[in-house]
Parts: sequence; C-alpha cells; structure tokens
Amino acid sequence: MKVSEDVRQRLDALALVTPEWRGWLTLLQEALNEVNAPAWDSVEPSLDQNREPTAPALAGARIALEPSLGREWTRRLLQMAGRAGGAGAASLRAAAQRLDGLRFLEAAVCDDLDAVAGLAADSGTDGKALGALVGLAAMPLLQACRRRVVRGVAEGWSRGYCAVCGAWPTLAEVRGLERTIRLRCGRCGGDWRIEWLTCPYCGVADHERLGSLVSDSHGETRTVRTCAECRGYFKTVTTLGPWPPDQVSVEDLATVDLDVAALERGYGRPGRPGYALGASLVEASSGPTADHRRTWGAFGWWR
Ligand SMILES: [Zn+2]
Ligand SMILES: [Zn+2]
Repeated sequence: MKVSEDVRQRLDALALVTPEWRGWLTLLQEALNEVNAPAWDSVEPSLDQNREPTAPALAGARIALEPSLGREWTRRLLQMAGRAGGAGAASLRAAAQRLDGLRFLEAAVCDDLDAVAGLAADSGTDGKALGALVGLAAMPLLQACRRRVVRGVAEGWSRGYCAVCGAWPTLAEVRGLERTIRLRCGRCGGDWRIEWLTCPYCGVADHERLGSLVSDSHGETRTVRTCAECRGYFKTVTTLGPWPPDQVSVEDLATVDLDVAALERGYGRPGRPGYALGASLVEASSGPTADHRRTWGAFGWWR
C-alpha cells in the first residue's frame, strides 16, 4: 500500500529542493509504503508483563511474525540501498543475498548497534552502510506493533524515551492552541508528552540550563531545544494537530537545517537508544497457542 497523498507530496517537495537526497528519499518512501502494507498486521507482539515500570511497552517482548515477511522486506531494502549507489553499495547488494535478514531485523528493532556491527562483520558487509539502514528496516515491524497492542501506553508516560520502543524522540511537535509538547518517534510512530522545560535525555528541568535556537526564517515555528547539562538537543515544529505516524520521519528530514545548526554549536543526540529493548522475534504460530513458537537464536536457526 502506498503512503498518503500528504506524505508523498512532502517527499516530492524534498526531492525537488534537495536532489542529492533522491537515493535516500526513495528508500524512505519504500519503507513508508511497507509501513502501510496490510501484511504487517499479522505481527503479534507478546508483551513482558513483568517489565519494570520504566520500561517501554516492547521491552522484553516476543514478537511473532511470518519469517518470509521479515526476510523479504530486509532483502528488498538491502537490494534497493545497493542500487542507490554510494559508499558500501556493492557490499549491501551482496548482503541482500547472504545476510541473515531476520537477525538483522531483530537487531534493528532493538536498535542494537553492537549486534548490527557483528552481523556486518560476519557477512563481510560495510558496517556503516548497514548501520544507516537500521531505522528504515525496523519501521514496518515497530509501527505494526504499536498499532496492534500498545494503544494508550503513552498515557501517563513521562520518560524522555519512546513509550513503545525506547528510542529517543526523533523530534517534537508543539501542538495546538495549548502548545503542548508531544515527543514523536520516527521508528514506531510513538507520540508522548513531556513537560515544557525538561530535557528528555538527562531529565534536567532547570530553565537556566535549557535554551533554544530560533531560526531567522521560521521564528518560533521551528526551533532547537538545547540542554547545557548533557549538551543534548531536540527539534520542535509547531503543528495544529498530530502528524500521522508515517509522517514523523519525513518531517525529521525536512528539518535537517536545525540539526546542522545544533551540531555546529556543539550539541548532539545520544548515540544509544534511551532503553535497551531486548525484544526478540519468534516464528508466528499457525496453531492457537504460543507453545509452537520458536526463537531465532544466536547459535543456529532455532533454540
Ligand atoms: Zn518508538
Ligand atoms: Zn540534558
């Protein structure tokens, strides 16, 4: 299924303004098409009911999916990225054939960069090129999980990381007339609230340590919020209502100028996720119980 007309128009506009991004925009559109594909509605996350209160919904979850769905998606993504050219393209084309797509998908869902680096080393793939695809690879599965079982989990959630998948916010909306801050996750589409004047990364709530960068061209409608405590930053965009989940990563790309402004001033974003998810992928059962599910393990196909 295709992306919405709004999202397609945003992608087309970005391709016109920044033709050098065409290769990446093609991959993003493919990932967003996949997010909207009904096949992913068959994904069944079993949540860990004993997870700690600070853990996002999918921490320790066992996510059942049809193996062919995960394998075909990762193979297609790697092939397309290989065709798009750039550094590591040839190694991505080779990886489409020899990389263990399900393990890559599991590592991507957990944003486990060590596991991704290990898979790259084992398969002779360019680690940087493979690492760049992690967010796109995880999107269809994570968004399906959010749709399936995690409605309402963001109610009352006040951590800086995503209530569903544990990622740091991709960016934030300053939403509606009330101007509430809603953090948004481009991986799963998550949407949660944080108090004004709180750093999502280190939790500091001291107005003297928190600041903002405002651009001449957009004023308060697009800003960078900065934290002098941890040197972190996040971007805010004024919105009337919530973006659809598949629009978050497009808006992230459309505001790269804000990232550049923040990085130039010495601010950054954490290199690791807010919460190590530790979720695992399991084979979807054809029977009525979960007993037949098997986990893809580290020492062979099944354990
Ligand atoms: Zn998320
Ligand atoms: Zn901070």
